[in-house]
Amino acid sequence: MCGIIGITGVEQAAKEVFVGLFTLQHRGQDAAGILSYDDGSENPEQLGFHIWKDTGLVDNVFNEHIIERLSGTVAIGHTRYSTVGSSEDKSDVQPFALNYPYGIGIAFNGNIVNYGEISEKLRKEHRRHFLSTSDLEVIQNLFADRLAQVTNGNDVTMDHLSQAVQAVYDEAIGGYSVVTLIADHGLVAFRDPKGIRPMILGRKQLANGKYSYCVASEAIVFSFLGYEAMRDVEAGELIFIDRDGNLHSRVLEQTNQRAHCMFEWVYFSGVESILEGLPVYEARLKLGKGLAKMIQKAIDSNEMRPDIVVPVPETARIASIALAEEINVPYREVLIKNRYIHRSFILGTQNKRAKAVDLKLNPVRTEIKGKNVLLVDDSIVRGTTSSRLINLVRSAGAKEVYFASTCSPIRQPCYYGIDFPNEKELLATGRSEAEIAEKLNADKVVYLEQSSLRKAIGHNELCMACLDGKYPTDVSSGKKFSQQRQRQRSRVWP
Ligand code: SF4
Repeated sequence: MCGIIGITGVEQAAKEVFVGLFTLQHRGQDAAGILSYDDGSENPEQLGFHIWKDTGLVDNVFNEHIIERLSGTVAIGHTRYSTVGSSEDKSDVQPFALNYPYGIGIAFNGNIVNYGEISEKLRKEHRRHFLSTSDLEVIQNLFADRLAQVTNGNDVTMDHLSQAVQAVYDEAIGGYSVVTLIADHGLVAFRDPKGIRPMILGRKQLANGKYSYCVASEAIVFSFLGYEAMRDVEAGELIFIDRDGNLHSRVLEQTNQRAHCMFEWVYFSGVESILEGLPVYEARLKLGKGLAKMIQKAIDSNEMRPDIVVPVPETARIASIALAEEINVPYREVLIKNRYIHRSFILGTQNKRAKAVDLKLNPVRTEIKGKNVLLVDDSIVRGTTSSRLINLVRSAGAKEVYFASTCSPIRQPCYYGIDFPNEKELLATGRSEAEIAEKLNADKVVYLEQSSLRKAIGHNELCMACLDGKYPTDVSSGKKFSQQRQRQRSRVWP
């Protein structure tokens, strides 16, 4: 998962993109980058692309002087969460840039399931040499090749762009949102045909009456930058804001069944965000209420006796408040987070994940000692974080420790941009709840049921494939995808 943003029509677009990236930092903490284009109208010496990117947090990658140098009225930005390659690999840091045709800057969020097949074909039949392990290079090649063919050097039109994006849709199976900047033409954005990965469109009226536009992974960006949210980009839709500020849009792939990733509401998106018209905050409250019903049953049947409800910071907080209210058990924030350690789920390797849990949470022993603690988290993926948390609470003197997850058991891999491509890594695969509890050293584990999860989000067209195995696209390349990701991830950099 990553955060993407594109802005056009303001004096220095990179400044706004920079602020936007801060608001999307939770979507990826491995690397960040901004690419801007200056048409040279104010200062001919500034003509061209300006790019800055590196591994690290937004705050570490950029400073005031760097942002000043990223001139131009159009810019795109990216925060990276590595599902592919090593988190230290600088060649995978986005945005990418191409000098032909026209000059193209591009960034994306997602994964291509059949990356292996397409990249092999491009290598063999078109003699392409790949410079990174990123799926983006495949999208970039498909898009740029077709654009070069259909425009033949003429000005880019909406029809040309439709054909270029269609070339991506025809070949690339997966979940992806893409933002592209074409020199002297404008900003382009498109979303995968099932709408798996999110993308939203906003605008801001300028003093001259014209509008500047922003596309981003989440609406959270808009409130910080003063944009009004217009709407979600449709599944299979192409958006083009030309250099005169005119907005064009076209749905290229009609689907009768969209498949928005449920994990956006459960875990990934900021609580302030609204996706597909459904507020994340409200969904998390309802997830907590749904879980409360199940916990109440377990209390009534004497399977647990919680004295306090404790959220695992930060994502589970809202659901835990609702849960505690419903079952009338005190809510206590007794796991104190060190804000300066990376989010554990995002970190690239098992070893690093384990270390991050040790470093980032400190228990308030006086409040935990002698109590039965109900820990609430957004999900249990590999179980590394969950078992360390349970042991942490036990070592702080808890009598009994229960673990509740607002997400149902994750038993299938994700091929669409969340970092669990291999079912062997998933704790719940092939295990019952009792076996999971034993593995985690918990007195009891409770998962929210799938039907309640769907109800809490309130959308009929969701991807829940990692829970129910019903993938919204062809995943016949999935095995190859998982093996490839495994190999790339184990590449260790000095
Ligand atoms: S498989 Fe799971 S994590 Fe992946 S897109 Fe679907 S719901 Fe989201």
